[in-house]
Parts: sequence; structure tokens; C-alpha cells
Amino acid sequence: MRPGMRQLAFSLRARLTIWYTLVLAAILLAYAGGVYAFLRQNLYRELDRRLHDEFEAAEASLERRADGTVIRVVTRDAHTHEEDAPGGRRLEVWSLEGARLYREGPERPALPPPVGAPSSTEETETVRVEPGTILRVRCGTYPIGGTPVLIRVARSEMGVRHELTEFSVGMALGLPAAVLLACLGGYFLAGRALKPVGQMAARARSITAERLEERLPIENPDDELGQLGTVFNGTLARLERSFESLRRFTSDAAHELRTPLTALRSVGEVALRERRSNPAYREVIASMLEEVDRLSRLVDTLLTLSRSDSGLVDIGAQRLDLSQFARETVDDMAVLADEKRQRMTVESEPDVYVDVDPGLLRQALGNILDNAIRHSPEDVPIHVSVYRILADGSDRAVLEVIDQGPGIEVAHQRRIFERFYRVDRARSREDGGVGLGLSIAQWAVQANGGSIELESQPGEGSTFRIQLPLVRQVAHA
Ligand code: ADP
Repeated sequence: MRPGMRQLAFSLRARLTIWYTLVLAAILLAYAGGVYAFLRQNLYRELDRRLHDEFEAAEASLERRADGTVIRVVTRDAHTHEEDAPGGRRLEVWSLEGARLYREGPERPALPPPVGAPSSTEETETVRVEPGTILRVRCGTYPIGGTPVLIRVARSEMGVRHELTEFSVGMALGLPAAVLLACLGGYFLAGRALKPVGQMAARARSITAERLEERLPIENPDDELGQLGTVFNGTLARLERSFESLRRFTSDAAHELRTPLTALRSVGEVALRERRSNPAYREVIASMLEEVDRLSRLVDTLLTLSRSDSGLVDIGAQRLDLSQFARETVDDMAVLADEKRQRMTVESEPDVYVDVDPGLLRQALGNILDNAIRHSPEDVPIHVSVYRILADGSDRAVLEVIDQGPGIEVAHQRRIFERFYRVDRARSREDGGVGLGLSIAQWAVQANGGSIELESQPGEGSTFRIQLPLVRQVAHA
């Protein structure tokens, strides 16, 4: 795992650097190419402009003498020193028949004589006169003394070429150096940017089921890695919570199972200690069966909870008339209430229909009614009310169980739906409760898309309110 992670970080770092370097090199190359083209164009434009000026000056200053030769009537300007340099400034005048009439500038290397028919327009071209000497030549016909002649002005192109070569050499040396530097810088920066990944990986490796309270280090919660770390930490927090509740559930369940088992064992051991009469044995067996009963109820409940946790319970939704359903469930529980001479009344609105799993909802309502009966004093009535709330977009069916029992303290109200939570542990066990009834009721209601809430005033009683999505349109059965 460790070398794998390192290789991953390295390859990501290398890949980032390579991409960065390639893109930068391409940009620099394009930029250098653009500058080269711009420089070349400017240098040649300047050279051509000078040739053009000189051509015009030559046109204006050339004269034909009576013997047919051509002379220049202006004194030469400050270019004298250039003319003697190889490839320096030149001026030549040729007759259209191919005879040179006038020449200025260095003799060698000589410009080749003009070839082909002279063009009517002025033309500029590059002529390689000998290795190491390249001239830029402007040539055109112009009438002198009534006869057209071919005028050629030329200047060395070597200066321009030299500048361009210098620029290219500078770029050829500078560009790879710049790219190399950028590559090193990119590698360093990518390493810095990816450092938190390595730290996160190291910390994540050390997190085990026993150390779920640890979190990934986050340098900057707003950048991409920070967001990833935050999401991962959120997942860890949820995992920690569910591990914790699983641990609590397991230890609570074990604890609850131990009590009836201990009772079973001690009843058995005491019975075996001395010989007893048959009726006495029967009594022992009956008491043991009572504990077994309690055990199997508890195991059933635990099974229900574990199935609910794993999402294995099929919710078979059916359309129910909630009022009729409440009445039937209350009737089923009447035997228990009768034992305490509690009267159970149902008040209901018509047409309160819901789509629910009847078995699950019966379990929820049964647990709430069972609590109300157990916790309410004798002779005190319990009231069940069914009605609907019509609100735009969220019509609800409501089922309330109202008792006049001892009520529940605010401190307990928040935790009453937690698994194994009991207000009075000792008393609750006496009447068979292990603190799972309400958590099962809550799960059963939520599985049907509803919610359950408690309203209670200590000393005045409690109201458990189940809300379910109301079905407005009633299908005819
Ligand atoms: P149990 O099965 O032990 O009754 P429940 O989850 O059903 O567990 O209830 C949790 C606790 O809530 C009980 O210990 C009890 O003290 C309290 N309780 C539940 N219903 C009522 C009620 N109607 N009136 C007063 N206390 C109640």
C-alpha cells in the first residue's frame, strides 16, 4: 500500500510537471516564432524603405551626357564608407540592351548582370552574389534623357540576417534554459501542492475502527483537497456515530439478555438445591417460562430492529382508512386496558386515507397504546384521535394517542425514542419494558414515510402524534 501510494503521488506530480512544461514550451515557442516573424518583417521593411529612398534619389540625380554615358550630378552623402565594404551600397545603371552605363559602390563581389526583359514596375529581390554576401536589390526602368534605362540599387542584407541569426541563437539557448527552469519550478510546486495528499493518505492509513475519532488534516478547507478532506471527515464522523450506536446497541442488548438468563439460572439452581413437591416444581417451571417468554419477546424485538437497520423489511403499502384502522387496533388492545379499568375512546374524521404497511403501523400504534396503558393509572381514560391537516402541498393524516399518565420530563423527551432508553430503568423492567418500544414505533412510522413526535407535560400526561402523508383521492375498492 505504502509504495503504491507514493508511486501514485509521484506519478501525479510527474504528470502535472510534464503537462505544465509541454504547455509552457509550446507557448514560448509560439511566442518566439511570433517575435522572430515580427522582427524579420520590420528589418526587411526598413531595408526596403532605404532602398526605395535611394532608388528615388538615383532617379532624380542621374543625367545622360551627349556621348550617351550616364553620370550622377549630386555629391555623394555620408554613405561613402559603406560603399567600400563588400556588399556595401551599390548603384548601377544599365541600358536595356545590357550595357552597364554607370556604377557606384564596391567592384567586388560584382552583381550579376540583369537577365530577362526588364519589368515595368520596380521590384525588390534578394541576390546571393557569392558565399557570405547576400544583397537586397531594387530594380526598375526609368527614362533618362528620353531613353529608358534599368536602374539597380543594392544594399547588403547581411546586417539583417546577422540580427535575425543572433535573435535565433539567443532563443535557441534561452528557450531550453527557461523551459528547464520552469520544469524544475513546476516539479517543486506540484510537490508542494500535492503534499497534503501525502499527509492525508498517511493519516487515513492510521485510521482504524478503533480510532474513528481521528480526522484528516485540512490545510485549507476551501481548496479542492480541503473539500475532499472535509467530505472524507464527514464520512468518518458518520461512521464513528454508527459504530458508536452499534457498540451501544450490542452492549445494551447483551445486558438485557443477561438479566432474564441470570433469573432463569438462579430460579433453576434454587429449585435443584433441595427436593420439592410437584406443585412447587410447577411453580418454578412457570416462573422460568415467564423469563423465557420475556427472552423470546426481546429476541423478536432485536430481530425486528436488526432487520430494520439492514433495510431487509419489505414495506407492503396498502390504502387504509386510518380511523377504522385506529378503532381495530384499539379494540385489539382493549383486554389490556380493561385489566386496569381504563376506557379507550376513539374520535375520528371521515376520509382520512393513507398508503401504509398495516403490519408496521399496527406495531407502532400498538407500542404507543401499550405504553399509555402501562404508564396511566387505573380508571383513567386513554384517548385516540384521527384527523387530517390540509395544507398546500403537504396534506397530512394525524393519529394521536393522548393519555393522562405521569407525563415525561423535558430532559427525557429528547431521548425517549432512542434504543434501550428508559426513564426509570427499574420500574420499566418490572412491567416488561426494555426501552425498545418507542424506537421501533419511530422506525415503523418513518418506514411508512411519516414522523412521530411527543408532547408531554410532567404530571398531566403525554400525547404521541403520528403524522403520515394523506391520500386525497380515494380509489374505490
Ligand atoms: P419500554 O418498552 O421500556 O416502555 P419505550 O421505548 O416504549 O420502552 O419507552 C421508553 C420510556 O419512555 C419508558 O421507559 C417510559 O418511562 C417512557 N414512556 C413511554 N411512554 C410513556 C407514556 N405514555 N407515559 C409516560 N412515560 C412513557
